[in-house]
Amino acid sequence: MTSRIPGATDAKREMGVSSLFFDHAFLPDGWARDVRLSIEGGVIAQVEVGVSCGGSGHVKGIALPGLPNLHCHTFQRGMAGLAERRGVGDDSFWTWRDVMYRFLGRLSPDDVEAIAAFAYAEMLERGFTSVGEFHYLHHDANGSPYDDLGEMAARIVAAAAESEIGLTLLPALYVNGGFGGAAPGAAQRRFLNDPERFLKLVERTRAVTASLPSAQVGIAPHSLRAVTPESLRMVIGQAGAGPVHIHVAEQVKEVADCIAWSARRPVQWLLDNVIVDERWCLIHATHMTSDEARRVAVSGAVVGLCPITEASLGDGIFNGPDFLIAGGRYGVGSDSNVEIDAAGELRLLEYSQRLGQRARNVMTTEPGESTGQRLFTSALAGGAQALARPVGAIAVGRRADIVVLDAEHTSFATTDSRHWLDAWIFVPGCPAIQSVFVGGAKVVDEGRHIRRDKIAARYRSVLRRLVDV
Ligand SMILES: [Zn+2]
Repeated sequence: MTSRIPGATDAKREMGVSSLFFDHAFLPDGWARDVRLSIEGGVIAQVEVGVSCGGSGHVKGIALPGLPNLHCHTFQRGMAGLAERRGVGDDSFWTWRDVMYRFLGRLSPDDVEAIAAFAYAEMLERGFTSVGEFHYLHHDANGSPYDDLGEMAARIVAAAAESEIGLTLLPALYVNGGFGGAAPGAAQRRFLNDPERFLKLVERTRAVTASLPSAQVGIAPHSLRAVTPESLRMVIGQAGAGPVHIHVAEQVKEVADCIAWSARRPVQWLLDNVIVDERWCLIHATHMTSDEARRVAVSGAVVGLCPITEASLGDGIFNGPDFLIAGGRYGVGSDSNVEIDAAGELRLLEYSQRLGQRARNVMTTEPGESTGQRLFTSALAGGAQALARPVGAIAVGRRADIVVLDAEHTSFATTDSRHWLDAWIFVPGCPAIQSVFVGGAKVVDEGRHIRRDKIAARYRSVLRRLVDV
């Protein structure tokens, strides 16, 4: 393990030039031994295989590209474990949402920053090296904009800077409380902007993210419940370049309400009324017909699956087989952050398909193919596309965002590397993570974020004040 890079001179470090050497690394064309990376300004400038360590920082272990977390509402980490008691009637996504609204009603900008820093540090410890923040908590508790319209966005940026996670910030457009332009409820007042003010918020978000290396900005029309066709088209047309994320077809009731409004299912409405292409990421898309799954695959859009949250909220099971056969692209996200675990998201994605299909190795198509490797490489590519970030591979031109597994862990006892991704995803998951690098800099050492003590202490005091009242 290396915190200092022995071979790099001070001058080189100042220029952001360094090199790392790994015993084993997962490269785009498969496993390789004795891999040396030259890194300039956080980006991989050269990959050499089968070489000696030389003066490079020697990192013992198994190097993987860090997984992008393509969907996150970071403040919800603070209510993890607080919505697991049965209510008076049937509990559902909608009763969970009421708990979530009550929780967020109390959050100050300082609270949001503290919770976000902790959640992002945990993401890094657990295998995610960049995050797509689907950000809808914009205003104060009364629904009034802060003096700086981008106050909350700046707090997300500050948390990303402190944790050093890569950030794609997606300000959410939230105008309505239901399909067909229904009026929003009082509990939604902190989210609301008309399209004009939203476009100013996007502009302000671009300004506050400028200080963060490699940050990207996109937009997130919250859902078809929260926008009208007119406001949706306006912001897509005027918000500039960058990814477009939207929650869609997460819940059966949402599908029924959309049909009642438009005579179309949500994914069907979107495909029929907007140009959905590679810029788009459809979050959840849980309830799709075979035809919708095929059409989304053809569009080139990424589907953002959040299996742990979808299980937690009782959303349902994604139409995996139809989407896979059509060549659909997907990535994974931690969404509500009730549990943060990159390998765990991939594991539950496959296990939920097995439960639904009563079959094994569902998210693969080729005989003999490793299910873990297929899940991992798909989520790397889909996540990088959805976040518009040069990540997702240990390759020239990509950011040096690397997760290192402990080669001495018993799960990797076999020396046959073809089993290692399956062994990581289906057996230990995050406890096997030893160190993590972002842009070539070590941010997790021996499984702990380098600023964990400070970040966790602040998080604890915020949670005690918010919950122990
Ligand atoms: Zn979400």
